[in-house]
Amino acid sequence: MSDVRNVIIIGSGPAGYTAALYTARASLKPLVFEGAVTAGGALMNTTEVENFPGYRDGIMGPDLMDNMRAQAERFGAELVPDDIISVDLTGDIKTVTDTAGTVHRAKAVIVATGSQHRKLGLPREDELSGRGISWCATCDGFFFKEHDIVVVGGGDTAIEEATFLSRFAKSVTIVHRRDALRASKAMQERAFADPKISFVWDSEVTEIHGDVKLSGVTLRNVKTGETSRLPVTGLFIAIGHDPRTELFKDQLKLDGEGYLTVDAPNTRTNLTGVFGAGDVVDHTYRQAITAAGTGCSAALDAERFLAALA
Ligand code: FAD
Repeated sequence: MSDVRNVIIIGSGPAGYTAALYTARASLKPLVFEGAVTAGGALMNTTEVENFPGYRDGIMGPDLMDNMRAQAERFGAELVPDDIISVDLTGDIKTVTDTAGTVHRAKAVIVATGSQHRKLGLPREDELSGRGISWCATCDGFFFKEHDIVVVGGGDTAIEEATFLSRFAKSVTIVHRRDALRASKAMQERAFADPKISFVWDSEVTEIHGDVKLSGVTLRNVKTGETSRLPVTGLFIAIGHDPRTELFKDQLKLDGEGYLTVDAPNTRTNLTGVFGAGDVVDHTYRQAITAAGTGCSAALDAERFLAALA
């Protein structure tokens, strides 16, 4: 059994690394579980990031995450590229178990496990991510000036993304597998009134085309089975996110969509000494800077919690 640490951080995206930086600089010697396969988080899978403040000319996602990692390490954060597979967060001393079965103990835990955007599950989807395929209009819309774009989905996020993209795009086609949208009435009306936005109902994307960059998609009408090819250079997939809360679902309070519930603007969860930060909590903003911001808040909340114990 390991010594009792001050703080363990689960997750290594902008939220986890920022929490690591702040707790390390507060001499709390954080132990950070980065994840076995996806250390560095969602930005490891993208190309250029142009909206993280401080990088005037933009920065590649993996480079940004390497910088965050190195900055946290410089102040003494202990970083472990492994997954946590079980937790007990209920007592005064929290325990987390890694894939080798080793149990690590701490007085405070920061959960920063992020959320996974849902994919279509089609060949070429991963290869063309950042090369015409995106899951975030706020992040990437600017790269699509005068492009023909398809947005897949029918909920609030899809319609919001389509409306935002129509500022830049030549055309935006919303492809939805039903014959009506799930989005709010107001949002629907805005989309219906937008001359750049058109709709393909009862349809799904069944193929993605393009070698180096996206060049088009194949659509299939789910009622008639008819297929057609749409030449587009942008594909925005807006079919939802799955917060990574499976590990915590019997101990921490989650909302109806599975996101971790915190006492916002505080990062406290329902369990004393357990804090949540980043996209595992946030289904509204989902940006690297907001994740980093709440990572900072969680570190400060943990620091104050630990100071009160002393
Ligand atoms: P994540 O970055 O998702 O990191 C979570 C981490 O937790 C992962 O490393 C994972 O391995 C780890 N983890 C999960 N479970 C466990 C476990 N059990 N044990 C150990 N570790 C675990 N935002 C922008 O601001 N600008 C952009 O240009 C931009 N582009 C994007 C492009 C793409 C393709 C995607 C997918 C997202 C983009 N975003 C962008 C959004 C941004 O990446 C996220 O908002 C941000 O990464 C969320 O940070 P996070 O720390 O909450 O979670």
